[in-house]
Amino acid sequence: MNPNAEQVDALVIGAGVVGLAVARALALAGREVMVLEREAAIGTGTSSRNSEVIHAGIYYPTGSLKARLCVEGREALYAYCAERGIAHQRCGKLIVANTASQLAALPAIMAKAALNGVDDLVLLDRTQARKLEPELECLGAVHSPSTGIVDSHALMLALQGDLEHLGGMVACHSGVREMAVANDGIEVESLDGTRLLARTVVNAAGLHACELARKIRGLDARGVPKAWFAKGSYFTLVGRAPFSRLIYPAPEPEAHLAGLGVHLTLDLGGQAKFGPDVQWTSSPDDLQVDPQRAQAFYAEVRRYWPGMPDGSLQPGYAGIRPKISGPHEAAADFCIQGPQDHSVRGLVNLFGIESPGLTSSLALAGHVTSLV
Ligand SMILES: Cc1cc2nc3c(=O)[nH]c(=O)nc-3n(C[C@H](O)[C@H](O)[C@H](O)COP(=O)(O)OP(=O)(O)OC[C@H]3O[C@@H](n4cnc5c(N)ncnc54)[C@H](O)[C@@H]3O)c2cc1C
Repeated sequence: MNPNAEQVDALVIGAGVVGLAVARALALAGREVMVLEREAAIGTGTSSRNSEVIHAGIYYPTGSLKARLCVEGREALYAYCAERGIAHQRCGKLIVANTASQLAALPAIMAKAALNGVDDLVLLDRTQARKLEPELECLGAVHSPSTGIVDSHALMLALQGDLEHLGGMVACHSGVREMAVANDGIEVESLDGTRLLARTVVNAAGLHACELARKIRGLDARGVPKAWFAKGSYFTLVGRAPFSRLIYPAPEPEAHLAGLGVHLTLDLGGQAKFGPDVQWTSSPDDLQVDPQRAQAFYAEVRRYWPGMPDGSLQPGYAGIRPKISGPHEAAADFCIQGPQDHSVRGLVNLFGIESPGLTSSLALAGHVTSLV
């Protein structure tokens, strides 16, 4: 061991919603936990650049980590929000069909959801859907009553509060430069040269997790997947939201989507936003919204909301999906590599924690804790 390294029990790298949930779970399991965050505050990465939707767990391949952890995480999240007074709303969503092929695919979506444990979906015809949302145009829809929205920043503050209450801490301005596997743990070196020796290290660095894992001396880098970045831009609606539920276009059966289509989500103040679209980028910092993209949004949104007025969209924000599958590949599952995968005791790498990572955060945390 490096004689200058201070010893800690468990280190979590990254104070996004997943890192904070993992840190809290480790602390609840009796571990002494420190979170190292590169930025000046918690939750400035993908965790504050998403749709804030509590997903039901409908689309993911049955048996995948995404399917299992989303369904488990969704209920855990609703319970945690209720217990901790975190603003959220079980507002429900409609998956809407505007083409014959989308309509024909709705029963298959319901069947897949049921296999995933989502058994509360209701098939609606056009009249029934428009009764719920009079401004909606569609041929038919599926209603998901257990989909909701959450204040993600309040969630992260509650997780941090629990962690600190249990004796853990978050150190901001503490970017990790590199790591090395040692006999008695994992040595972690920060950007400022501080060295720590930890028995357990969880790499929850989001968009940077793959790059960071490649800097772990003693870990076989061939097991680290290639990182891909898929930007999603949002446009906010000027004026009153026309819907009280989230509206998602049904996926085209033949489409190869990296996202869920340009959907309408609401925040807890009732403000509507549309997005995210999909734009592959080479940089995890490419966060500018290009106002020109609004034209494509009008076209897509008017399929289900023909009454959308001209000039009603303004550029909002963008987030980047931390993907481990490329533009022409099927979406990869969450990739959680623990000691049984790479033989490094005490190390867990979290790769590809894209949507539904927010919904799954508490379940992901339980899963990671069980590995170490
Ligand atoms: C456009 C978009 C929409 C989405 N919508 C939803 C949704 O509606 N519902 C849902 O469930 N999920 C959604 N997601 C997914 C969800 O946002 C993510 O899965 C989740 O936020 C990931 O959290 P995280 O903690 O893993 O990553 P992050 O929030 O990115 O946190 C990683 C942290 O690690 C830090 N870090 C990086 N490198 C280092 C280093 N070397 N040293 C120290 N710290 C470092 C970063 O600064 C950052 O704070 C969406 C994602 C996107 C992009």
